[in-house]
Amino acid sequence: QVTHPLAKEGPSSPSYDWFQTDASVTIVIYTKQKDINLDSVIADHRDDSFRAETVIKDYSYLIHIALSHEIQEDFSVRVVENVGKIEIVLKKKENTSWKCLGHPLENHNSLIPKKDTGLYYRKCQLISKEDVTHDMKLFCLMLPPSTRLQVPTGQHVYFKLTITGTEIVKPYTPVSDSLFSEFKEPVLPNNKYIYFLIKIYPAGLFTPELDHLQIGDYVSVSNPEGNFKISQFQELEDLFLLAAGTGFTPMVKVLSYALTNIPSLRKVKLMFFNKTEDDIIWRSQLEKLAFKDKRFDLEFVLSAPTSEWNGKRGYISPAVLSEFLKRSLVTSKVLICICGPMPFTEQGMKLLHDLNFSKDEIHSFTA
Ligand code: FAD
Ligand code: NAD
Repeated sequence: QVTHPLAKEGPSSPSYDWFQTDASVTIVIYTKQKDINLDSVIADHRDDSFRAETVIKDYSYLIHIALSHEIQEDFSVRVVENVGKIEIVLKKKENTSWKCLGHPLENHNSLIPKKDTGLYYRKCQLISKEDVTHDMKLFCLMLPPSTRLQVPTGQHVYFKLTITGTEIVKPYTPVSDSLFSEFKEPVLPNNKYIYFLIKIYPAGLFTPELDHLQIGDYVSVSNPEGNFKISQFQELEDLFLLAAGTGFTPMVKVLSYALTNIPSLRKVKLMFFNKTEDDIIWRSQLEKLAFKDKRFDLEFVLSAPTSEWNGKRGYISPAVLSEFLKRSLVTSKVLICICGPMPFTEQGMKLLHDLNFSKDEIHSFTA
């Protein structure tokens, strides 16, 4: 077994092995961690190289090999959670016996801090694009068959496009195709479609180019990033979501996950800040959800409403927050998630500290 100098500060170093049958080659990764699930493994097969990145706490363990023989396009990934074992089954193109798996490529069999791994991209195809509001669209992208990737709740990816000869990269947060889809059925482990709610800024650098893509065109999409952890939901009783404009996007999966998977949950409250009624994303879906699920409450706050608006007005403020952030029990375990334009998030964070919420009770979504 190989030991890694870098592993000294991090989790104990994973190792791998491989075996074959006539038709397949299986790579087995022993992570030596218990909390490994399918979200933790991102695998790509490109030309003759195979790359599998396993996220273990703040580290990445890489398998990166130029395979000795050809394999078929699709492959499968299985995780045995209680022992932290990952099995990647590759299908051989020809039924010959492999003498070796292949030769190592950059960083193969190494455990490196996630921040040092760099972003890895694969090309995803635009499948559909639908209007959601006057300037927001729901984009559906398809992962290539040679990629296994699931974006964990609360994380984002980077898109990359070449615009007038320069590579431009911007972050986007996957959502579900509707607020109700995650309740119908659990996300399939090999889900090939990723949905994004994206606001098109006519004077923006990136989004007009994205909007010009035709169905069938490609955009490069990175591995997931972000520091939100599902463990922040443990024993959670009250979840407060403060979203402004497209800052709603990380709340979509957070909301669905909490309502579906957290038995201790009593209350989820979303305060959604927008300029006008026309800017509210998925308003009728949100209202339907609030009607259907008594644990979910919803409040809209508009900064530039018409005179007919009789709901809350203005920006985020001490008055609006202190009234909204009432614990359902004095001792309730709470989590407050906040996301929106930088001044909104900064002001909100300051107000939350003034209201005596601790660091552990607040998560702000940033890049
Ligand atoms: P930009 O070129 O950045 O311009 C945006 C607007 O600002 C335009 O109206 C432009 O005219 C104006 N502007 C630009 N520069 C200036 C300036 N100097 N002074 C004044 N005005 C200026 N967005 C989504 O829609 N959906 C998501 O899911 C999403 N997820 C995100 C996740 C993360 C972690 C982060 C950090 C951001 C996310 N965003 C999301 C925002 C996204 O990354 C881009 O910032 C956004 O799409 C704007 O890109 P753009 O290049 O088109 O616009
Ligand atoms: P917007 O301009 O439509 O504004 C929405 C609301 O934000 C306003 O109604 C107001 O209540 C509040 N707001 C705006 N400017 C403010 C200010 N100066 N002070 C206080 N409150 C203010 O918003 P948008 O165009 O949809 O932009 C959304 C922002 O959210 C973008 O900057 C985007 O980068 C960010 N975002 C971040 C993430 C993330 O970090 N994970 C995810 C999605 C979006």
